[in-house]
Amino acid sequence: MLNYKDLSFWEKRAYTDHIDVAIIGAGIVGMTCALALKHANSSLRVVVLERGYLPTGASSKNAGFACFGSPSEIYTDLASMSEEEVWETVAMRYDGLKRLLELVPSARMGYEACGSWDLLDKNEHLSTDFLAYLNDNIQKITGQASCYGEDHEMLAKSGIRGFKFAFKNRLEGSIQTDQLIDSLHASCITAGIKFLYGTPVQSIDSGELLTPFGTLHANQVVVCTNGFAANLLPLDVTPARAQVLVTTPIDDLAINGTFHFDEGYYYFRNIGNRILFGGGRNLDFTGEQTLSMEPTGRIQNHLISLLQTNIIPGKSFDIAYQWAGTMGLGTSKKPIIKRIDKHTVVGVRMGGMGVAIGSLVGEKLSKIVLNE
Ligand SMILES: Cc1cc2nc3c(=O)[nH]c(=O)nc-3n(C[C@H](O)[C@H](O)[C@H](O)COP(=O)(O)OP(=O)(O)OC[C@H]3O[C@@H](n4cnc5c(N)ncnc54)[C@H](O)[C@@H]3O)c2cc1C
Repeated sequence: MLNYKDLSFWEKRAYTDHIDVAIIGAGIVGMTCALALKHANSSLRVVVLERGYLPTGASSKNAGFACFGSPSEIYTDLASMSEEEVWETVAMRYDGLKRLLELVPSARMGYEACGSWDLLDKNEHLSTDFLAYLNDNIQKITGQASCYGEDHEMLAKSGIRGFKFAFKNRLEGSIQTDQLIDSLHASCITAGIKFLYGTPVQSIDSGELLTPFGTLHANQVVVCTNGFAANLLPLDVTPARAQVLVTTPIDDLAINGTFHFDEGYYYFRNIGNRILFGGGRNLDFTGEQTLSMEPTGRIQNHLISLLQTNIIPGKSFDIAYQWAGTMGLGTSKKPIIKRIDKHTVVGVRMGGMGVAIGSLVGEKLSKIVLNE
């Protein structure tokens, strides 16, 4: 093992000496924070430390929904959060997506304004009045009318079974997750940001970062470890495993866009002529509160059975990919964005919406670091 103390002059000068800001975690938040810091001050020495040989959390494993709020999710949230808080959260996601599209051109992350559909088998709540209420409020945020509406044709056209109602959000879209991560990484490299992969930070104390290779010093440390945050700091963050599968290509697939049901506990989309399908955490909330990234038979088999009965019934397919990622949840749906001490800033707990809010959080963190 090569310890930091034994690095060459060149290596130390390039990677480990005089670090202004060390960012822990190479996910969307870590990389967008690094970029925002360099955009604000290109002479800052910014180093990102990532425990995995690739980003190993949620950002390179997610479903790629560019979403800000489905009718049934907003309905459910209104029962447990204040109205002000619900719309603040929706606005943050919408602004975050706008910000992301400014930072990464849509073609460089495969963004498609495909719309999303909320699928229900019964509808006791989403009345015409409630949709009008949603549209009024969302127009205040987006400036656009008629964001939400019932779609009477999609279910019959797509072959999806087991649902009677489909509510469309015409302003949501999708990204190609790998392309977003690649683009952010490429922008970071161009900006002169250094990456130390395979570097798990074991503890942080007043700008000292302990790793298996020795201790690094940074003037400022930004913790962007999302679901893993409680390993380093006493924070209200609980890991939540999220499991996904992707099918083999399917002939004559009539599904195009992003879809969710059961209050967002299940979500699917097409990737070309394959289906990506994820969710099922609600089958075992306690068991899924884990940092393990191994998919489980119980949830994967349930996803496969729903594919056969509801999503692509009658179609021939195999499962080509199965994986799991780690989300960061807590007692509130809001992320934790704050300075902890003179040397440490934290931006974690992105929930299931980090694609939408991650870049905004990264930018906010950079402002806290720079005392703006
Ligand atoms: C399966 C799945 C599907 C999802 N689908 C969507 C979706 O469709 N739309 C959406 O908006 N959001 C979705 N999410 C959530 C979204 O991906 C996350 O909210 C977002 O990626 C969080 O970004 P982040 O940078 O905060 O954290 P992460 O991407 O988790 O990054 C944290 C990084 O920190 C690293 N790390 C942790 N501890 C240490 C340490 N001690 N030392 C060094 N490095 C460390 C990790 O390896 C990781 O790379 C999904 C999540 C999952 C898991």
